[in-house]
Amino acid sequence: MIISEIFLSIQGEGQWLGMPSVFIRTSGCNLRCRWCDTPYASWNPQGTEMSVQAILDQVARHSVEHVVITGGEPLIHAEVVELAAQLKLQQKYITLETAGTLWRDISVDLASISPKLSNSTPHDRQGGTFAKAHESTRIDIPTMTQFARSTAIKNRQWKFVICRPEDITEMEVLLAQLPEITRQQDNIFLMPEGIDAAELQKKGVWLAELCKTRGYRFGARLHISLYGNQRGV
Ligand code: SF4
Repeated sequence: MIISEIFLSIQGEGQWLGMPSVFIRTSGCNLRCRWCDTPYASWNPQGTEMSVQAILDQVARHSVEHVVITGGEPLIHAEVVELAAQLKLQQKYITLETAGTLWRDISVDLASISPKLSNSTPHDRQGGTFAKAHESTRIDIPTMTQFARSTAIKNRQWKFVICRPEDITEMEVLLAQLPEITRQQDNIFLMPEGIDAAELQKKGVWLAELCKTRGYRFGARLHISLYGNQRGV
């Protein structure tokens, strides 16, 4: 599979925020989010073809327990299923980050699913070339239902990038179609959109107030606050 980068960092989002982790970033994505912060794995995919064993060898250079398989969209690569199985044999705690539009029968400790709301559609990028395909692909209820039901996934969290108040209504209409997701059983994180610390701080204050009144969990983006919009951190 094509790998964009493998690096040691700390988890910047979700319930394992701050956890030292090795990140395996696959390259290539079936979506084109307007605000994508890893365009080198989506809009302009770059990377090197690597075998599962070669990836495991690089992961083994680091002594941390947590491994995050991310992208791009990892599930466009069939070999990700074998990669996860091999990592589990090494007693790693595996997080899979996905947009929830593609399904493979994969066994992981945490599925971190980030469905894309309409604020992601790239109407103004590259003349809107990808807008139609993105819009028709970004939400897949049957696939998200599989993520919610799979017994091979031990735990799951749902992360939404929120740009404006109407995004909450859109998210709740979506969640109403997924009765398997309840706030008692699953973590739902609302994250501000932004690629630098100042932007995140400004939008985060607004979003934190909204989380207080609506009962959702605020989702920090620690890696951007700490390092800015850089690769390999
Ligand atoms: S799904 Fe993720 S990697 Fe793909 S375009 Fe959207 S933000 Fe970028």
